[in-house]
Amino acid sequence: MYPKKILTLISFLKKLPGVGFKTAERFAFELIKWNKEELKSLANILYNIKETLKKCTTCGCLKEEDHCYFCDIKLRNNDIICIISSEKDAFSIEEIGAYKGLFHVVSLISPIEGFQKDDNNVDNLKKRIINNNIKEVIIALDSTLEGDATSLFLKNKLKNLNIKISRLAFGLPIGSSLEYIDKTTLAKAFFGRQNF
Ligand SMILES: [Zn+2]
Repeated sequence: MYPKKILTLISFLKKLPGVGFKTAERFAFELIKWNKEELKSLANILYNIKETLKKCTTCGCLKEEDHCYFCDIKLRNNDIICIISSEKDAFSIEEIGAYKGLFHVVSLISPIEGFQKDDNNVDNLKKRIINNNIKEVIIALDSTLEGDATSLFLKNKLKNLNIKISRLAFGLPIGSSLEYIDKTTLAKAFFGRQNF
């Protein structure tokens, strides 16, 4: 039987995506081999991460201190918004180098649980579109049931705003989450976006 501290460490590590008991076990035993300084640095990052890394209240992306790179009007095209469901997707889309517009993070709606009250940041999105004179909205949500349901929901909510709405579709395999798509496929999906 492992010491309690090891078991606790394993149970934390197991919470990470794709990490089962065996992998968590391996990670835990690897970590205890690290020297004290390394462990202290890791612990410090984790301890402070919520204070130093914040969600931008405008777009929902991650920002360091008070500056949101994704909302910086000097760096971005201000009349186009790309809708994503994870802060991480902004970095993936940024990486393909073809998009310099704004972002907006929404949470996905489960078609099985039905539509919850409007808590997925859509009212804020509408305000942004109107106040900033946005011309196009690109829906870059997963090609899954949740992604489809949320896209339809957004389309309905935004249909009276007289803007172009497109969705990444071309090249995206059904059932795929943006997170697991390689750069080339994502770039293709972006360029081949279709009116929605
Ligand atoms: Zn922002």
